Amino acid sequence: MSVAVATAPAPFYEDVACYGCGRRGGRAFIDAQDDLTGKPGTFHFVTCETCGLAFQNPRVSLDHIRQFYDDDYIAHRKTNWGVLNAAFNRAMNQLDAAKDRIVSRYIGLNASSAVLDVGCGVGTFLQRLRQRYGAAVTGVDFKNLASYPALQGTEFHCGLFYEAALADRRFDLVTMWHFLEHDYDPMRSLRTAHRVLKRGGYLVIEVPRLDSVTFWMFRDRWPGLQAPQHTVLYDRAHLLAFVERADLEIVDYLPYGAFPAYFYLFTGTAFLMLKGRGLNLKRAIYPYFLGRVLAAPVLAFEKYLNLAMHTVICRRSQ
Ligand SMILES: [Zn+2]
Repeated sequence: MSVAVATAPAPFYEDVACYGCGRRGGRAFIDAQDDLTGKPGTFHFVTCETCGLAFQNPRVSLDHIRQFYDDDYIAHRKTNWGVLNAAFNRAMNQLDAAKDRIVSRYIGLNASSAVLDVGCGVGTFLQRLRQRYGAAVTGVDFKNLASYPALQGTEFHCGLFYEAALADRRFDLVTMWHFLEHDYDPMRSLRTAHRVLKRGGYLVIEVPRLDSVTFWMFRDRWPGLQAPQHTVLYDRAHLLAFVERADLEIVDYLPYGAFPAYFYLFTGTAFLMLKGRGLNLKRAIYPYFLGRVLAAPVLAFEKYLNLAMHTVICRRSQ
Protein backbone atom coordinates (compact mmCIF):
# COMPACT_ATOMS: atom_id res chain seq x y z
CA MET A 1 0.00 0.00 0.00
CA SER A 2 1.40 3.42 -0.93
CA VAL A 3 1.79 6.24 1.61
CA ALA A 4 -0.77 8.32 -0.30
CA VAL A 5 -3.39 5.61 0.12
CA ALA A 6 -2.54 5.08 3.78
CA THR A 7 -3.05 8.75 4.66
CA ALA A 8 -6.15 9.38 2.54
CA PRO A 9 -9.33 9.96 4.57
CA ALA A 10 -11.46 6.85 4.93
CA PRO A 11 -14.41 6.75 2.54
CA PHE A 12 -17.82 7.46 4.05
CA TYR A 13 -19.34 4.18 2.88
CA GLU A 14 -17.83 0.72 2.73
CA ASP A 15 -19.19 -2.51 1.30
CA VAL A 16 -19.56 -5.27 3.84
CA ALA A 17 -19.94 -9.03 3.48
CA CYS A 18 -22.77 -10.84 5.28
CA TYR A 19 -22.02 -10.95 9.03
CA GLY A 20 -23.43 -14.46 9.18
CA CYS A 21 -22.01 -16.36 6.20
CA GLY A 22 -19.57 -13.99 4.49
CA ARG A 23 -21.40 -13.76 1.17
CA ARG A 24 -20.99 -10.41 -0.57
CA GLY A 25 -23.75 -8.28 -2.04
CA GLY A 26 -27.32 -9.02 -1.05
CA ARG A 27 -30.83 -8.40 -2.33
CA ALA A 28 -32.37 -4.94 -1.69
CA PHE A 29 -34.51 -5.15 1.46
CA ILE A 30 -35.47 -1.71 2.75
CA ASP A 31 -34.22 1.88 2.56
CA ALA A 32 -34.14 4.06 5.65
CA GLN A 33 -33.43 7.61 6.73
CA ASP A 34 -32.05 8.95 9.98
CA ASP A 35 -35.56 9.49 11.33
CA LEU A 36 -34.41 10.19 14.88
CA THR A 37 -32.21 13.23 14.23
CA GLY A 38 -33.10 14.13 10.63
CA LYS A 39 -29.49 14.10 9.39
CA PRO A 40 -29.48 13.79 5.56
CA GLY A 41 -28.92 10.55 3.68
CA THR A 42 -30.68 7.38 2.62
CA PHE A 43 -29.30 4.11 3.91
CA HIS A 44 -29.77 0.68 2.38
CA PHE A 45 -30.47 -2.61 4.09
CA VAL A 46 -30.07 -5.83 2.11
CA THR A 47 -30.97 -9.46 2.68
CA CYS A 48 -28.23 -12.06 2.27
CA GLU A 49 -29.04 -14.37 -0.63
CA THR A 50 -27.46 -17.33 1.14
CA CYS A 51 -28.51 -17.13 4.80
CA GLY A 52 -31.25 -14.47 4.77
CA LEU A 53 -29.63 -12.10 7.29
CA ALA A 54 -30.78 -8.47 6.97
CA PHE A 55 -27.97 -5.93 7.27
CA GLN A 56 -26.97 -2.45 6.17
CA ASN A 57 -24.90 -2.53 3.00
CA PRO A 58 -22.98 -0.43 2.28
CA ARG A 59 -22.43 0.73 5.84
CA VAL A 60 -20.94 3.99 7.11
CA SER A 61 -17.27 3.37 7.90
CA LEU A 62 -16.17 3.34 11.55
CA ASP A 63 -14.32 6.65 11.14
CA HIS A 64 -17.51 8.36 10.00
CA ILE A 65 -20.15 6.66 12.14
CA ARG A 66 -18.81 8.47 15.22
CA GLN A 67 -20.47 11.71 14.10
CA PHE A 68 -23.83 9.96 14.46
CA TYR A 69 -23.14 9.32 18.16
CA ASP A 70 -22.90 12.97 19.22
CA ASP A 71 -23.80 14.37 22.65
CA ASP A 72 -27.52 14.33 21.89
CA TYR A 73 -27.46 10.64 21.05
CA ILE A 74 -30.24 9.22 23.14
CA ALA A 75 -28.25 6.58 25.01
CA HIS A 76 -25.58 9.14 25.94
CA ARG A 77 -28.09 11.63 27.21
CA LYS A 78 -26.48 15.00 27.88
CA THR A 79 -29.66 16.80 26.86
CA ASN A 80 -31.13 19.16 29.40
CA TRP A 81 -34.79 18.24 29.61
CA GLY A 82 -35.75 21.28 31.66
CA VAL A 83 -38.72 20.71 33.94
CA LEU A 84 -39.06 17.15 32.67
CA ASN A 85 -35.59 16.09 33.82
CA ALA A 86 -37.15 14.28 36.76
CA ALA A 87 -39.57 12.36 34.54
CA PHE A 88 -36.78 11.47 32.12
CA ASN A 89 -34.50 10.28 34.92
CA ARG A 90 -37.33 8.21 36.34
CA ALA A 91 -37.84 6.54 32.95
CA MET A 92 -34.12 5.74 32.80
CA ASN A 93 -34.18 4.32 36.33
CA GLN A 94 -37.12 2.15 35.30
CA LEU A 95 -35.12 0.88 32.33
CA ASP A 96 -32.19 -0.07 34.57
CA ALA A 97 -34.59 -1.75 37.01
CA ALA A 98 -36.14 -3.75 34.15
CA LYS A 99 -32.68 -4.94 33.06
CA ASP A 100 -31.93 -5.90 36.66
CA ARG A 101 -35.18 -7.92 36.86
CA ILE A 102 -34.36 -9.89 33.70
CA VAL A 103 -30.82 -10.64 34.83
CA SER A 104 -31.86 -11.57 38.37
CA ARG A 105 -34.16 -14.31 37.08
CA TYR A 106 -31.11 -16.27 35.97
CA ILE A 107 -28.22 -15.22 38.18
CA GLY A 108 -28.03 -14.17 41.82
CA LEU A 109 -25.54 -11.32 41.93
CA ASN A 110 -23.54 -10.59 45.07
CA ALA A 111 -20.34 -8.94 46.25
CA SER A 112 -18.19 -11.62 44.63
CA SER A 113 -19.81 -11.25 41.18
CA ALA A 114 -17.95 -9.74 38.25
CA VAL A 115 -20.14 -8.09 35.61
CA LEU A 116 -19.25 -6.69 32.20
CA ASP A 117 -21.63 -4.44 30.26
CA VAL A 118 -20.73 -4.12 26.59
CA GLY A 119 -21.92 -0.83 25.11
CA CYS A 120 -22.43 0.50 28.63
CA GLY A 121 -23.31 4.08 27.61
CA VAL A 122 -23.28 6.44 30.57
CA GLY A 123 -23.12 3.51 33.00
CA THR A 124 -26.25 3.77 35.15
CA PHE A 125 -27.04 0.04 34.86
CA LEU A 126 -23.62 -0.93 36.16
CA GLN A 127 -23.88 1.70 38.88
CA ARG A 128 -27.12 0.03 39.99
CA LEU A 129 -25.49 -3.42 40.17
CA ARG A 130 -22.56 -2.03 42.12
CA GLN A 131 -24.79 -0.23 44.62
CA ARG A 132 -27.39 -2.97 45.07
CA TYR A 133 -25.23 -6.09 45.02
CA GLY A 134 -21.69 -4.84 45.55
CA ALA A 135 -20.72 -6.47 42.25
CA ALA A 136 -17.41 -5.56 40.61
CA VAL A 137 -18.44 -3.83 37.39
CA THR A 138 -16.66 -3.21 34.11
CA GLY A 139 -17.98 -1.29 31.11
CA VAL A 140 -16.90 -1.00 27.49
CA ASP A 141 -18.10 1.66 25.07
CA PHE A 142 -16.58 2.92 21.84
CA LYS A 143 -17.30 6.46 22.93
CA ASN A 144 -15.28 7.95 25.79
CA LEU A 145 -17.86 8.51 28.51
CA ALA A 146 -15.47 8.10 31.44
CA SER A 147 -16.29 11.54 32.83
CA TYR A 148 -19.98 10.70 33.41
CA PRO A 149 -20.84 10.53 37.13
CA ALA A 150 -22.47 7.06 36.99
CA LEU A 151 -19.23 5.57 35.63
CA GLN A 152 -17.23 6.62 38.70
CA GLY A 153 -16.43 3.36 40.48
CA THR A 154 -16.68 1.39 37.24
CA GLU A 155 -13.67 0.04 35.36
CA PHE A 156 -14.23 1.65 31.98
CA HIS A 157 -12.64 0.64 28.68
CA CYS A 158 -13.05 2.98 25.72
CA GLY A 159 -12.94 1.30 22.32
CA LEU A 160 -14.21 -1.72 20.44
CA PHE A 161 -15.19 -4.63 22.66
CA TYR A 162 -13.14 -7.27 20.83
CA GLU A 163 -10.09 -5.03 21.10
CA ALA A 164 -10.55 -4.16 24.79
CA ALA A 165 -7.62 -5.05 27.04
CA LEU A 166 -9.48 -7.53 29.24
CA ALA A 167 -6.59 -10.02 29.08
CA ASP A 168 -7.35 -12.99 31.30
CA ARG A 169 -10.33 -11.40 33.04
CA ARG A 170 -13.38 -13.67 33.53
CA PHE A 171 -16.94 -12.57 34.28
CA ASP A 172 -20.00 -14.19 35.86
CA LEU A 173 -22.28 -12.06 33.71
CA VAL A 174 -21.84 -10.21 30.42
CA THR A 175 -24.68 -8.00 29.17
CA MET A 176 -25.28 -6.48 25.74
CA TRP A 177 -28.30 -4.16 25.90
CA HIS A 178 -28.88 -2.84 22.40
CA PHE A 179 -25.27 -3.33 21.43
CA LEU A 180 -25.17 -6.17 18.93
CA GLU A 181 -27.29 -4.38 16.31
CA HIS A 182 -24.70 -1.58 16.28
CA ASP A 183 -21.70 -3.88 16.08
CA TYR A 184 -19.30 -3.96 13.12
CA ASP A 185 -18.33 -7.59 13.80
CA PRO A 186 -21.02 -9.28 15.92
CA MET A 187 -19.65 -12.82 15.57
CA ARG A 188 -16.28 -11.63 16.84
CA SER A 189 -18.00 -9.90 19.76
CA LEU A 190 -19.94 -13.04 20.64
CA ARG A 191 -16.77 -15.13 20.56
CA THR A 192 -15.05 -12.50 22.71
CA ALA A 193 -17.95 -12.70 25.17
CA HIS A 194 -17.55 -16.49 25.25
CA ARG A 195 -13.84 -16.09 25.98
CA VAL A 196 -14.29 -13.64 28.86
CA LEU A 197 -17.13 -15.58 30.52
CA LYS A 198 -16.45 -17.94 33.38
CA ARG A 199 -17.61 -21.48 32.75
CA GLY A 200 -21.30 -21.43 33.66
CA GLY A 201 -21.39 -17.63 33.27
CA TYR A 202 -24.31 -15.90 31.56
CA LEU A 203 -24.57 -13.64 28.55
CA VAL A 204 -27.74 -11.55 28.14
CA ILE A 205 -28.41 -9.94 24.75
CA GLU A 206 -31.27 -7.59 23.93
CA VAL A 207 -31.79 -6.22 20.40
CA PRO A 208 -34.74 -4.93 18.35
CA ARG A 209 -36.70 -7.76 16.77
CA LEU A 210 -37.16 -7.65 13.01
CA ASP A 211 -39.98 -10.21 12.95
CA SER A 212 -42.11 -8.08 15.29
CA VAL A 213 -45.43 -6.25 15.20
CA THR A 214 -43.85 -2.78 15.09
CA PHE A 215 -41.73 -3.65 12.04
CA TRP A 216 -44.89 -4.87 10.32
CA MET A 217 -46.61 -1.58 11.29
CA PHE A 218 -43.91 0.94 10.39
CA ARG A 219 -41.72 -0.78 7.72
CA ASP A 220 -39.23 1.83 6.42
CA ARG A 221 -40.04 4.11 9.39
CA TRP A 222 -39.53 1.32 11.95
CA PRO A 223 -37.45 2.78 14.81
CA GLY A 224 -35.44 -0.46 14.94
CA LEU A 225 -33.82 0.42 11.62
CA GLN A 226 -32.16 3.41 13.31
CA ALA A 227 -30.08 4.21 10.27
CA PRO A 228 -27.23 4.53 9.94
CA GLN A 229 -26.21 3.27 13.42
CA HIS A 230 -27.84 -0.15 13.18
CA THR A 231 -25.72 -2.53 11.14
CA VAL A 232 -27.72 -5.76 11.54
CA LEU A 233 -31.48 -6.44 11.90
CA TYR A 234 -32.03 -9.66 13.83
CA ASP A 235 -35.08 -11.85 13.61
CA ARG A 236 -35.44 -14.67 16.12
CA ALA A 237 -33.84 -17.34 13.93
CA HIS A 238 -30.74 -15.32 13.09
CA LEU A 239 -30.20 -14.10 16.65
CA LEU A 240 -30.29 -17.66 17.97
CA ALA A 241 -28.09 -18.95 15.14
CA PHE A 242 -25.43 -16.32 15.90
CA VAL A 243 -25.37 -17.24 19.57
CA GLU A 244 -25.09 -20.95 18.84
CA ARG A 245 -22.31 -20.41 16.34
CA ALA A 246 -20.31 -18.77 19.15
CA ASP A 247 -20.67 -22.03 21.15
CA LEU A 248 -23.02 -20.46 23.65
CA GLU A 249 -25.81 -22.55 25.13
CA ILE A 250 -29.28 -20.97 24.86
CA VAL A 251 -30.93 -20.90 28.28
CA ASP A 252 -34.01 -18.82 27.46
CA TYR A 253 -35.53 -16.61 24.81
CA LEU A 254 -37.89 -13.71 25.59
CA PRO A 255 -40.11 -12.03 22.95
CA TYR A 256 -39.62 -8.69 24.73
CA GLY A 257 -36.83 -6.76 26.41
CA ALA A 258 -36.13 -4.32 29.19
CA PHE A 259 -36.44 -1.47 26.70
CA PRO A 260 -40.08 -0.34 26.50
CA ALA A 261 -41.89 -1.35 23.31
CA TYR A 262 -43.92 1.81 23.77
CA PHE A 263 -40.91 3.85 22.68
CA TYR A 264 -41.15 2.16 19.27
CA LEU A 265 -44.93 2.61 19.06
CA PHE A 266 -44.54 6.32 19.78
CA THR A 267 -41.47 7.11 17.69
CA GLY A 268 -42.65 4.91 14.78
CA THR A 269 -45.88 6.91 14.62
CA ALA A 270 -43.92 10.17 14.82
CA PHE A 271 -41.46 9.04 12.11
CA LEU A 272 -44.37 8.24 9.76
CA MET A 273 -45.63 11.80 10.16
CA LEU A 274 -42.23 13.54 10.07
CA LYS A 275 -40.93 11.67 6.98
CA GLY A 276 -37.24 11.99 7.86
CA ARG A 277 -37.29 15.51 9.30
CA GLY A 278 -36.05 14.32 12.67
CA LEU A 279 -37.76 14.13 16.05
CA ASN A 280 -37.49 17.09 18.41
CA LEU A 281 -37.20 15.13 21.66
CA LYS A 282 -37.90 18.12 23.88
CA ARG A 283 -41.14 18.87 22.06
CA ALA A 284 -42.12 15.20 21.86
CA ILE A 285 -41.79 14.45 25.54
CA TYR A 286 -45.26 15.70 26.58
CA PRO A 287 -47.13 13.66 23.95
CA TYR A 288 -44.78 10.78 24.80
CA PHE A 289 -45.91 10.55 28.41
CA LEU A 290 -49.53 11.26 27.49
CA GLY A 291 -49.49 8.50 24.86
CA ARG A 292 -48.04 6.06 27.34
CA VAL A 293 -51.03 6.57 29.61
CA LEU A 294 -53.42 6.05 26.69
CA ALA A 295 -51.57 2.93 25.53
CA ALA A 296 -51.47 1.40 29.01
CA PRO A 297 -54.17 -1.24 28.29
CA VAL A 298 -52.10 -2.62 25.38
CA LEU A 299 -48.78 -2.28 27.19
CA ALA A 300 -50.11 -4.42 30.05
CA PHE A 301 -49.71 -7.36 27.67
CA GLU A 302 -46.38 -6.25 26.23
CA LYS A 303 -44.61 -9.49 27.14
CA TYR A 304 -47.00 -11.55 25.04
CA LEU A 305 -47.47 -9.38 21.94
CA ASN A 306 -44.03 -9.54 20.29
CA LEU A 307 -44.12 -5.79 19.82
CA ALA A 308 -40.54 -4.71 19.28
CA MET A 309 -37.69 -6.35 21.22
CA HIS A 310 -36.25 -9.73 22.00
CA THR A 311 -33.77 -11.02 24.53
CA VAL A 312 -31.69 -14.17 24.54
CA ILE A 313 -30.12 -15.53 27.69
CA CYS A 314 -27.20 -17.85 27.11
CA ARG A 315 -24.46 -19.54 29.04
CA ARG A 316 -20.93 -20.68 28.51
CA SER A 317 -21.19 -24.39 29.18
CA GLN A 318 -17.65 -25.46 28.30
ZN1 LIG B 1 -25.39 -14.63 4.82
